Amino acid sequence: MKKNDTAVIEITDIGVNGEGIGKVDGYTLFVKDAVIGDRAEVKVMKAKKNYGYARLMKILTPSPDRVEPACAYARKCGGCQIQEMSYERQLDFKEQKVRGNLERIGGFAPDLLDEIMEPIVGMEDPFHYRNKAQFPFGTDREGNPVTGFYAGRTHDIIPNTDCALGVPVNREILEIILDFMRQYSIPAYDERTGRGLIRHVLIRFGFTTKEIMVCLVINGKEIPHADVLLERLGRVDGMTSISVSPNTERTNVIMGTSCQVLKGQGYITDYIGKIRYQISPLSFYQVNPVQTEKLYALAMEYADLQGGETVWDLYCGIGTISLFLAQRAGQVYGVEIIPQAIEDARNNARINGIENAEFFVGKAEEVLPEYYESFAHEHGGETARADVIVVDPPRKGCDEALLDTIVRMKPEKVVYVSCDSATLARDLKILSENGYELEKVRAVDQFPMTVHVETVVKLSRKTGES
Ligand code: SAH
Repeated sequence: MKKNDTAVIEITDIGVNGEGIGKVDGYTLFVKDAVIGDRAEVKVMKAKKNYGYARLMKILTPSPDRVEPACAYARKCGGCQIQEMSYERQLDFKEQKVRGNLERIGGFAPDLLDEIMEPIVGMEDPFHYRNKAQFPFGTDREGNPVTGFYAGRTHDIIPNTDCALGVPVNREILEIILDFMRQYSIPAYDERTGRGLIRHVLIRFGFTTKEIMVCLVINGKEIPHADVLLERLGRVDGMTSISVSPNTERTNVIMGTSCQVLKGQGYITDYIGKIRYQISPLSFYQVNPVQTEKLYALAMEYADLQGGETVWDLYCGIGTISLFLAQRAGQVYGVEIIPQAIEDARNNARINGIENAEFFVGKAEEVLPEYYESFAHEHGGETARADVIVVDPPRKGCDEALLDTIVRMKPEKVVYVSCDSATLARDLKILSENGYELEKVRAVDQFPMTVHVETVVKLSRKTGES
């Protein structure tokens, strides 16, 4: 097939990015927005030797799993990839994605996975789940300020203040800001020229406390007539923290490196279970609080703490998992690369009266090996102990030096929380070749309507291993 050819195709499979896959005379086509079971007319956009990419032109017979998207911009917007697939199907897809990676990359036997994989944890209401949103600002052809989301793989803004994944109050806040910009002719930032002021707004909403944080990212030091904007935003129910983060760099990085509080306090508070967390604009915090509670409960269940254990929480962020586990452990050590997150972690321990959690700044793959070596040095060769080690790395997974130290520390259990099942599978293979066996695997849907999936795994040290 070649570019601009059209064909009628039966969608029979789904790719890792949620795209439909089908064949025309043995030639494979990837079709964005097509669902398994669709019969559709497609047009080839890009043709390679053995496969190509096609655009969905017309659905001839819709799949039984196809649903009406909740958002009118679902196809254009880069935020959601699989909103047109029934939620049940989405869950199935994610579970199979994890399973497929464990089989192919991890080399785990299908029989074993049948036995140990627990059903994916889905959401009851898979919309409006995000507690955080970052909206870019721009200018439309008529010169009006707009905000919304980037179209897939571009930086073109699709105006939309009513994202189906975000909380309803986002819209009220965005309309206040747009109104204010129009009234005082305050220009949005323009990536192409580097001019204009308002770049992004970060909105965070505490699901339990109903506290709201607004942080405006600006290409400058201050916003003219800021007092008017502050007064208007201040009237929104729950507004707790309004700040600006100057970012004058010509970069894709959204936030600046600092934040100045303009009104209220510099953080909002929220709860996961009984633990209270203070969240500042620049800290990482899980975006789906309903599912996060389930995720951490699962990590807790897999850690199976009795009360006296020594636990390491590597890649701990603001100490969320560490403090959760500290409720049932003897001592918890958290390690995280971002100093500000560790400051938040220590503070969060203090406001919850948790005294058995200690935090270290640094790379997990350096801090743990150094701790291990220096412990042996200081204790006449005796090795450092850990009963349970939890890891929750970014997408690239764990460094080999870290896995190596984990193996040497011989914890009874390793709990692996992962946001990328491919690197998870790679790392599990290493652990399983070095004395650990997979005991349980469970996917958790933290990001409905997208192709992302979180996984929690329990590994136990094989008995008889020295
Ligand atoms: N467990 C936390 C955070 C998980 S996100 C939670 O559930 O909220 C992964 C974290 O790993 C981020 O906070 C990131 O800053 C941190 N990180 C990235 N590379 C790291 C490394 N090499 N060593 C330690 N932490 C790292």
